[in-house]
Amino acid sequence: MAHDEPKAAGPSKLVIRNIGLLLSGALENPILDADTIVAENGRITAIGRAKDVDSEGATTIVDANGTTVTPGLIDSHVHPVAGEFTPRQNQIGWIDSFLHGGVTTMISAGEVHMPGRPKDVIGVKAMAIFAQRAFDNLRPGGVKVHAGAPVIEQGMVEEDFKEMASAGVRWLGEVGLGSVKDGPTARKMVAWARKYGMNSTIHTGGPSIPGSGLIDAEVVLEADTDVVGHINGGHTALPDGQIRCICEGCKRGLELVHNGNERAAIYTLRLAREMKELNRLILGTDAPAGSGVQPLGILRMISLLSSLGDVPAEQAFCFATGNTARMRALDCGIVEVGRAADFVIMDKAQHSAGKNLLDSVQLGDLPGVGMTIIDGIVRTQRSRNTPPATKIPEIVAH
Ligand SMILES: [Zn+2]
Repeated sequence: MAHDEPKAAGPSKLVIRNIGLLLSGALENPILDADTIVAENGRITAIGRAKDVDSEGATTIVDANGTTVTPGLIDSHVHPVAGEFTPRQNQIGWIDSFLHGGVTTMISAGEVHMPGRPKDVIGVKAMAIFAQRAFDNLRPGGVKVHAGAPVIEQGMVEEDFKEMASAGVRWLGEVGLGSVKDGPTARKMVAWARKYGMNSTIHTGGPSIPGSGLIDAEVVLEADTDVVGHINGGHTALPDGQIRCICEGCKRGLELVHNGNERAAIYTLRLAREMKELNRLILGTDAPAGSGVQPLGILRMISLLSSLGDVPAEQAFCFATGNTARMRALDCGIVEVGRAADFVIMDKAQHSAGKNLLDSVQLGDLPGVGMTIIDGIVRTQRSRNTPPATKIPEIVAH
């Protein structure tokens, strides 16, 4: 089990040099013409060619050894409960395992697996504030877990959202997992949440586990959350006609999850491409779930969409980085000056048939992760979970 990691370790200057391929995370320009990144005190300060950037005074130098650097992956849909423990499958250490799958940021879609979860209004608010505080204080392995995502219940009033927001709560968990399952009530509460700066999602499709319910296209469109949570079902998907209706009926984020219907994920991808709105696609795992915990879930989604959905791999990586950062208003996810210095360094897996990393992903293989970096601090080296990378980066000075 990973121990709690600091957000930062004093003044630092990280230089990553000898980058073979730099993926930006931004769909409009997914590959950058640069081989060096500089980050100071956890923020990116320069991106360019080695000779053009100031790498003097580095406290850490990473030689990427010609491998690929991408922004740290964002899982837009997790259900954390208490630190590294999930009661859903009675596992510990699951967040650190995700870090080994390249995930550096997670967004809670509700702490709904909490045994005895309160459903009265004051209990809902107390739990949201508690979860926000707890995961702000504790970063398993360094991973940024954005938690404190209340699930709306009947009887909540505008003042409740104002109160939670002023206490630091900035997410709304999946609409539909509580007692509010009708469009008009959901719409009213989602609008209150948005008014106070909270970003929202909804449970789309059939029930996940006994006790949850169906949310169809009509409710999704009326509720108008910022993200259409697992539009490919969690796990049971809506009929294709309803998925089309949601895609065409709004401009909100279209979230595809690992613990969903894979065919419906590919269907949504094709619709988004037809509509020239690939920027709306974001990825999550919806783990821990009935199907378990999937440390490589985000990488598997990238590979699935790229290989079976015919998306260039450099674009598929944007679905798990820049697209999510923009939809969720996060300061990471794009290699850009001023953003958080969160990176994954990877290479094609040993013996992949692909001729390079992007080609291997397009052939359906997973990349091998060689290093993760969060806020400019190296958090892990060769992944214990991915297939072994062909080449790995190394720390050359410290
Ligand atoms: Zn759900």
